[in-house]
Amino acid sequence: MFCQQCEQTAKGTACTTMGVCGKNEEVADLQDLLIHATQGLCLYSDAARKKGITDSATSLFTCEAIFSTLTNVNFDPQRFVNMINKAVELREEMKAKSGASFTVPAATFTPAADLAGLVEQGKAVTLDTEEDKDLRSLKHITLFGLKGLAAYADHARILGQEDDSVYAYIDEAMTTILRDDLELNELVALVLKCGEVNLRAMELLDAGNTGKFGHPVPTAVPLGAKKGKAILVSGHDLQDLALILEQTEGKGITVYTHGEMLPCHGYPELKKYDHFYGHYGTAWQNQKKEFAEFPGAVIMTTNCIQDPKAYMDSIFTCGLVGWPGVTHLGDKDFSPAINKALAMDGFSEDSDKDSVMVGFARNAVLGVADKIIEAVKNKDIRHFFLVGGCDGAKPGRNYYTEFVEKVPEDCIVLTLACGKFRFFDKKLGDIGGIPRLLDVGQCNDSYSAIQIAVALAGAFECGVNDLPLSMIISWYEQKAVVILLTLLHLGIKDIRLGPTLPAFITPNVLNVLVENFNIMPITTADEDLKAILG
Ligand code: SF4
Repeated sequence: MFCQQCEQTAKGTACTTMGVCGKNEEVADLQDLLIHATQGLCLYSDAARKKGITDSATSLFTCEAIFSTLTNVNFDPQRFVNMINKAVELREEMKAKSGASFTVPAATFTPAADLAGLVEQGKAVTLDTEEDKDLRSLKHITLFGLKGLAAYADHARILGQEDDSVYAYIDEAMTTILRDDLELNELVALVLKCGEVNLRAMELLDAGNTGKFGHPVPTAVPLGAKKGKAILVSGHDLQDLALILEQTEGKGITVYTHGEMLPCHGYPELKKYDHFYGHYGTAWQNQKKEFAEFPGAVIMTTNCIQDPKAYMDSIFTCGLVGWPGVTHLGDKDFSPAINKALAMDGFSEDSDKDSVMVGFARNAVLGVADKIIEAVKNKDIRHFFLVGGCDGAKPGRNYYTEFVEKVPEDCIVLTLACGKFRFFDKKLGDIGGIPRLLDVGQCNDSYSAIQIAVALAGAFECGVNDLPLSMIISWYEQKAVVILLTLLHLGIKDIRLGPTLPAFITPNVLNVLVENFNIMPITTADEDLKAILG
């Protein structure tokens, strides 16, 4: 195996024998083969689209297949076997529809009859190719960006929001990276286009979430628990949470959020349920301890699942998430998880552990834009820091806690995604009634943060780069990669990225990013604050 798609990658270079995330060689090989098979499908989907033929179900499968290979989504080999075979079946259908014929291996590959054979085929299409390392770097950035893009497109589609231009780019980019005749500048353009298309995918997702569940409103979320039976919902999927809330209503079960589900408490159509109570635990990498101690059922709606062997019988997966041996609720009937929660002890008593505020998405923040603009003009607010992105297990992430603690009192911190768990419960106070810590939402809500920045730039009649705003980004998996590409597509400069730079970016490619966008690694909280504020 050769996998270097996430920040956790072994020795900062690549996982080659076993993933630090828990992905074994068999699953890694199957994931590579699924990408290969999907590239064959994309070749024919792309050819069909050029003839005016599109197939929504095929595009949906393509997104699901790519999303399944994102870090910490699916560890179940059999699910990959099924998807590889399905990809080839759909490829043949699109071949017949398009009338095209390609001879590259991805377009002609026949899946082996059994798992062992498929694993061998996967080894032959490893991402550890011998080509020019800079070209490979750009192809990997594109592929990992596509994984994040496919995730957002899939989330949006679940909420009824689709745009064929997103699917068209995915088909085109998946096939373009098969070519070996590309120049560096062509690949740089493909990478930035990924960021542009992702902006559209995130816009669709934002429309899906706010259209279905309303605009988030500032909401206090208890960190304690209520006595009684309990279900914990993790991942990112609001639609799954809505279904769980519907199916648990009146059953004497309290529903809690975990990880990236925390911002769900701000949505009017979710917070209306009396049994939707509070938030339990912190970020994904702490789940083995936190889930083991939770006295109810746990439901994973999307990434990041970790080895659940200590609580196999009380955790459930749905959607694209998978772990061998864990009960998968494929049909969105959550009865098995509900019955398990009813059979478990639940919390023995009420506990009060204070609360945190969520719900400062674009509608809420821009609703007080006049107040914010006035405070900036009066110099009551000196600077905004967007401190967001993924959390992770490796050392060095205390930087983000320290950074937020040291942000001067005349500055505002906007945050989003699970990196916030490094500081989400800090009491930073307010500036003239404007909270100094504003939780914009999940990583899936990056569109909201971008809209806030764009609207403030409009109000001050300047560009986003001219705002008193600095972006301090933490990355872990491929959704963070594609969000970074979107920020670069928007021309945003001076981003500070950490805790380490991606292993798949070569020094030459990094130079291109530095020259064009002045992207830089984080240093220390003191040094970075001094450099930004003077
Ligand atoms: S996803 Fe990350 S930790 Fe897992 S195998 Fe790949 S690089 Fe390693």
